[in-house]
Amino acid sequence: MNPQQLELTIGWLYPNLMSTYGDRGNVICLQQRAQWRGISVKIISLDEQAPTAEIHNVDILMGGGAQDRQQEIVMRDLRGIKADTLREKIEAGTPGVFTCGAPQLLGHYYEPAIGQRIEGLGLFDMVSKHPGADSRRCIGNVVFELTASPLAQDLEATLGTKPIVIGFENHGGRTFLGNVEALGRVVKGYGNNGEDGTEGAVYRNAIATYSHGPLLPKNPFVADWLIQTALTQKYQTPVPLKPLDDTLAIQARNAMFKRLALTHLIKEPLHC
Ligand code: GLN
Repeated sequence: MNPQQLELTIGWLYPNLMSTYGDRGNVICLQQRAQWRGISVKIISLDEQAPTAEIHNVDILMGGGAQDRQQEIVMRDLRGIKADTLREKIEAGTPGVFTCGAPQLLGHYYEPAIGQRIEGLGLFDMVSKHPGADSRRCIGNVVFELTASPLAQDLEATLGTKPIVIGFENHGGRTFLGNVEALGRVVKGYGNNGEDGTEGAVYRNAIATYSHGPLLPKNPFVADWLIQTALTQKYQTPVPLKPLDDTLAIQARNAMFKRLALTHLIKEPLHC
């Protein structure tokens, strides 16, 4: 297919309430990497004012982090038909990334440090709990090997090496997985709960992660997977993506591996 005829709509969940630690960079990264390939991109805000019908038109879903207070406001809005439509989109395989506070809302519930339990959408079989205002937050750079299947195998085939994700985490809540696959295995940092070595979760094509970063500019292969998956879903045919020059991103990744004493992970091809 001619890329000039392709277009993608990114649905950005509650941009004013949920975009801590530069999560909007994920949306910018997706937009730019699609446009560099001649694919048109439309970004729509799925906020309190957005009519539910807008959710139907979305090809990629993006949700960022938030503080407990904002998460509560979001979940007060995300109910009834709006919540059902979002559930249907994710069940139908719409790809997306949900960071930190956002995945806490996709599980069964989130128990904040102060206040009532916030009921989630129940899409991911997982729960999140804040152990209390006095407990240590999970803050710092995080590195994990992406292991979820078939995502990890697909990325390994493209990259020629195991997909290693670099991010930055800052969360009080701890997430515990039930019958849902982890996104990856922690190499450095806390991940879901600082105890079991898991990081994030994947359900259908929806990625839940504690990795800010923002995630996608630091790990452009994840951005390309989202674009590719969205195009395949939309046009019902595989659309090969033109490789981009990711020299700068790779240099930044390598600098980070060095800083974190993970130099053995520096073995990346030039193009993602
Ligand atoms: N409120 C959540 C927590 O502290 C999420 C924070 C965030 O999105 N960075 O666990």
